Amino acid sequence: MFKSRLHRFEFKKGDTPHVFLSSQHGMYTYSDLDRFTAFFKDLVEKKADSLKWPVAFLSESSDVLIFCIAACWKLGIPFIPINPNVKNEELKNYLDALKPVLIFCDGNNRGRLGDENVIKMDENFFLNSFTHDIRDMELPDPDTIDKEQIFGYFFTSGTSGKPKIVPLKRRQILSASSASAQNFKPDPNHFWLLCLPLNHIGGISIILRSVIYESAIYRLGEFHEEMVKEFLGENQRFQAASLVPTMLKRLLDDPLFKTHRDFKSILLGGGPVTENLLRKSAERGIPIISSYGMTETCAQIIANPLLAPSGMYTPLKSVGKPFPPNEIQIRDENGRVLGKNQSGALWLKGPQVFDGYYSEDENDRRFDKDGWFNTGDYGHMNGFGHIFIESRRNDLIITGGENVNPNEVEEAMLKLPTIKEAVVIGVPDEEWGQKVTAVVTLKNGKTPQLDEIREQLKDALTDFKLPKELKIVKDFPKTDTGKVKRWELVKKFG
Ligand code: ATP
Ligand code: MG
Repeated sequence: MFKSRLHRFEFKKGDTPHVFLSSQHGMYTYSDLDRFTAFFKDLVEKKADSLKWPVAFLSESSDVLIFCIAACWKLGIPFIPINPNVKNEELKNYLDALKPVLIFCDGNNRGRLGDENVIKMDENFFLNSFTHDIRDMELPDPDTIDKEQIFGYFFTSGTSGKPKIVPLKRRQILSASSASAQNFKPDPNHFWLLCLPLNHIGGISIILRSVIYESAIYRLGEFHEEMVKEFLGENQRFQAASLVPTMLKRLLDDPLFKTHRDFKSILLGGGPVTENLLRKSAERGIPIISSYGMTETCAQIIANPLLAPSGMYTPLKSVGKPFPPNEIQIRDENGRVLGKNQSGALWLKGPQVFDGYYSEDENDRRFDKDGWFNTGDYGHMNGFGHIFIESRRNDLIITGGENVNPNEVEEAMLKLPTIKEAVVIGVPDEEWGQKVTAVVTLKNGKTPQLDEIREQLKDALTDFKLPKELKIVKDFPKTDTGKVKRWELVKKFG
């Protein structure tokens, strides 16, 4: 059974050091971060001559990786966080395309790179920073760094195909951090639990918000139910945690899981959430803030408020409203802006939205002449401006001329006694255009037949939404953050 080491810290309000990062390996203050930043600056200047060229990170999540990312922000060094799970060929493609001047890697990945311009982030690397001579230390003021500068090059999750490279500028990150801080009011006396991967913007945005607002992070190497339950439970000082829906589901599978009285919220986002999950959380008093975001919008851009004005009711399945001054439009296929409760493509515009992909082929298709960005997602807005995400536009099934939202069918299927997980896809079909096909994993017990499933769903779904095929699988192909790669299923069953 995991035993927390947090009790060692004897937190008393008012007398705690100004903590930047805590983890199972230690606790580090903002002075440690300054010292590391000076060390990192000297190192990069010595090896690369200048701070303006990008450096790359090829590393599993670690304390030192968090320090490196924070230092890049403080120094204005653009960086490229590469997922260590990428295959060698992909790695080569990224390095050839983005040409980092230095590559920082962990021990496990050292053998995948040549000798030139590679720095191993081992224990000594980190320890050296703490003995680094800082007598002549002069750090730039991050506020004076050009806001038009690229902050970093980020990879999308690769849910719908090959990951895309998204350059984000400092002004976009600043806008996103400030919007999120206005919603969450970070407090230096609290910890934000970080268990998202550090090669995507979701995890990185937690580091940035903390550095910009000088609040504290607790890093978990990876998501581990037992630890998260303990940290969010009684007697812990976590104010918040960012989770993706699959993580929340795993926590709620334990009927005893609850959060402590002063816990503010779980920030939930990054992928579709079922109504059942939200309902269960609400019934058990676990505060959830649903949000919507993309790599292209510096993570969350639409979110529910932490404290809704009294009397304000937010519908359970809504992801909230865009952070002002970002704006949203729901449009039909011809680009016409739709009214309330009409479903269409989600377009966004505003200071958090990126300027374009690294590879420009895609940009014409995704931006209109007024700078609005087509998210590729599909949803609607109610009369109060609350946004509801229905599916990705490409996952929407058009069968016999009717639109079927796969998430709606999946939610209905999850209520059936035999179904454990359900993913509904549109398989190309001569007669229907696309045929509603349910791919499922089963609970232990009887194997259901298609007719039986259709019969059981009859009261919940109109006829054209009922699955016309049923495929049983052991598991689904997923991204690092637990999103199902539907296109792989379409390819397999199409
Ligand atoms: P790729 O662009 O490579 O296919 P991806 O879109 O999954 O991958 P990310 O930028 O990490 O890469 O994820 C953004 C997407 O995640 C959104 O476009 C949306 O489809 C989905 N998403 C995020 N938040 C939510 C949410 N609350 N509900 C439903 N979907 C969400
Ligand atoms: Mg995407």
